[in-house]
Amino acid sequence: MAAKKKTKRKIAHPGSRPLQRQLGFGHEGQYFDLRQIFDRLNEIYFNHALRRYTITWGRRRAQAPREYFVFGTIQEEDRIIRIHPLLDQDFVPVWFMEYVIFHEMLHAVVPDIPMAGGRRKVHTEEFLRRERAFPYYRKARRWEEENLARFLR
Ligand SMILES: [Zn+2]
Repeated sequence: MAAKKKTKRKIAHPGSRPLQRQLGFGHEGQYFDLRQIFDRLNEIYFNHALRRYTITWGRRRAQAPREYFVFGTIQEEDRIIRIHPLLDQDFVPVWFMEYVIFHEMLHAVVPDIPMAGGRRKVHTEEFLRRERAFPYYRKARRWEEENLARFLR
């Protein structure tokens, strides 16, 4: 999930692997344990449908992004969800973290739709419908709009 000005989103496409296997992999942050949130969401909203997934904080970068912030990505072929480490801060509400992780998890269960030119539509109508059904959806989107600047430099 990414946000640019309004809210533009991005998903890591299969095949676009990160340049390196990241060291310091881990789900425990200072404020959030990603695994704990993932497991809870998996139980409540997905009936444990996501199996053998890894969820981890992404690599910390030297600098915050300037105008394009990717909150989370999913690599479905490797079953890895990565959450941006800048979200591990005290001002980030738990329900926002839940929304970010829910969004990525939803990609794992809602099929993409192939489009012309080999592209794939990932935020399909079905996806958006299910995303809107998430209890904190509106609240989270509003929070995202209002707080995006805090993650950029
Ligand atoms: Zn997405």
